[in-house]
Amino acid sequence: MIVGQHIRKVTVMMRSKSKFTALFSLCLLASCGATVRDSAPNAAPASALITPARPEMIADYAKRYLNSLQPASFSQSREFCGFFVERSDGQIVGTTPQAGTSDGCSAGFVPDNAVASYHTHGGYLPQYINEIPSINDAESAVDIQLDDYVSTPGGRFWKVDGTTGTTTMLCAVGCLKQDPIFVPNPQIPPAPRYTLTQLRKLQG
Ligand SMILES: [Zn+2]
Repeated sequence: MIVGQHIRKVTVMMRSKSKFTALFSLCLLASCGATVRDSAPNAAPASALITPARPEMIADYAKRYLNSLQPASFSQSREFCGFFVERSDGQIVGTTPQAGTSDGCSAGFVPDNAVASYHTHGGYLPQYINEIPSINDAESAVDIQLDDYVSTPGGRFWKVDGTTGTTTMLCAVGCLKQDPIFVPNPQIPPAPRYTLTQLRKLQG
């Protein structure tokens, strides 16, 4: 996922997936963050709002929110990304999903009231390690100090801790909606948890 920070005056461009090597680059604001809003699916319904912003409730909201984005993510074979923000009334809501590409997504600047970020991993593509958050996902979460929630083509649901970068599978394969063409890769069965160091070894 690609995110922006007002403080650094640059956006951090990151590939959400890895073709067995992590990709990382910095780019100027003007050249980063392109989005395709026209094809973005609708945000989750207002009935999905929660309050207050307790971590487990954010995770539950994130799970339902990402699940609602899975069909468009598969049919368009692209990632969708954004933030979960706390409104002035204490409720949590997802920002309008930004449409990315098959292996990346620009969420833009971090809103001041953001409590987490989210992104899907698009449709199933055998050349990608897309059932696990990438090292760039984890480093980005730490960089902006926000937890990141991730859904995969196989229907897995992950949380990247914004403090430590540790990535935890909250829900296993088939938990969320699954791409009909998804094929499990027996060579890379995701572990339930990865530290930053472990992710670097796996994808570096
Ligand atoms: Zn990712």
